[in-house]
Amino acid sequence: MKVTKFGGTSLACSSQILKVKNIIEADEERKVVVASAPGKRFNKDIKITDLLLALNACKDDIQIKQDIINRFVELITDLKLDESLINEVEYYFNNIKEDVSMSEIVSRGEYFSSKILASYLGFKFIDSRDFMIFNDEDKIDFEMSKREFFKLYNDGDKIVVPGFYGRDYKGNIHLFSRGGSDITGAYLSAFLEVSLYENWTDVSGVFSVNPSLVKDAKTISHISYDEIRELSYMGANVLHTDSILPCQERNIKICILNTNAPHEGGTLISDVSNNKSLVTGIAGKSGFASLTMTRRNIQSDVKTLYKVLEVFDVFDVLIENIATGVDTLTITCLAQSLKVNIPEIIEALEVVSDSKIVIDNNISLVSIVSKNLEGKFDVISHIFEILKINKIKTRLIDHSSDDKSIIIGVDDDNLDNTISSLYCGLNNMRLI
Ligand code: ASP
Repeated sequence: MKVTKFGGTSLACSSQILKVKNIIEADEERKVVVASAPGKRFNKDIKITDLLLALNACKDDIQIKQDIINRFVELITDLKLDESLINEVEYYFNNIKEDVSMSEIVSRGEYFSSKILASYLGFKFIDSRDFMIFNDEDKIDFEMSKREFFKLYNDGDKIVVPGFYGRDYKGNIHLFSRGGSDITGAYLSAFLEVSLYENWTDVSGVFSVNPSLVKDAKTISHISYDEIRELSYMGANVLHTDSILPCQERNIKICILNTNAPHEGGTLISDVSNNKSLVTGIAGKSGFASLTMTRRNIQSDVKTLYKVLEVFDVFDVLIENIATGVDTLTITCLAQSLKVNIPEIIEALEVVSDSKIVIDNNISLVSIVSKNLEGKFDVISHIFEILKINKIKTRLIDHSSDDKSIIIGVDDDNLDNTISSLYCGLNNMRLI
């Protein structure tokens, strides 16, 4: 059996939903379907999830409400589905109370999209609210969710499940982060221990570099779980980073496929990478900051290091990289996680490290991902050559100890240029 998840563009209008039906009917194993909310139909269109976020900010905005209702009604009418679905949509949006939570409103995109798809396919609808349960740390309670799921699901059932949300222990609707329907699909794959998790989107697989930066970006036919986790964490946004581990831990293969071109094939993700090239892909993202502490022999002072890390823990700051020199300690972290606490964090760090803190903002990180860089002097020397030729000033260089990636820190202004220069340079040397 396969779990089959469809993204927003695959469910944006009736002609897309017809393609989805054809895909599902082409394979008897596609019995469990996860649906996103309807996405963009054309470039300037607005995703339903974004309309719902706008509605949440202004609950009695008649225009936004009507736009959302119209999108669903159009789907229901075009697909010639039961009119009761129209009544349900209208009733919900015309009776939203002021105190309804943001999560509940936003989840209705996936909820109604799945009801429509279930009705069109003749599949049973199972609401994620009834089984996908978040614990108090915002993580899925795996055992409880699985148990609840099997109370609703019978062997052989053909079902449609809304992605992106579940509920907390108190029963309130709770969302994954944006793009989270991928995670719903991954957990369902894990509960059911399926042979394959298919993730249908609007591109024929994972690109080895962001195609909006490099025109002839190649797609990757086969990639390992670790490589895709690194690439998606660093900004390649085909698959949500958190959707990989539930499959990786059970060795469930994931396939990224294109609803608009099913025959083109896509990217297979498994525990091995059959990719022939030395470099699998390059991705990068902005939004990092570094904090440097300078004091004689700080590097060898383990107690200070311990206390410094404790500060990051207390203020919940996500650490990305730690670099030490004899007299310096530099911690690079997600700038957003410093949030409003910067003055308090600096003060605490100055006390525990007995030094002045220098903050460096606007850092971007670029990751060159490979299956094995050990002894691959070609790749490493070319990376430095490309940086030199393109006069790219580096702020940080880190060769991961598992030999799977080299991370380069650059100024935010240089992010796109670094990615495209590295890709084109390594591609010319036939290393990608
Ligand atoms: N509809 C949600 C979003 O736009 C979740 C998803 O599509 O996976 O982020």
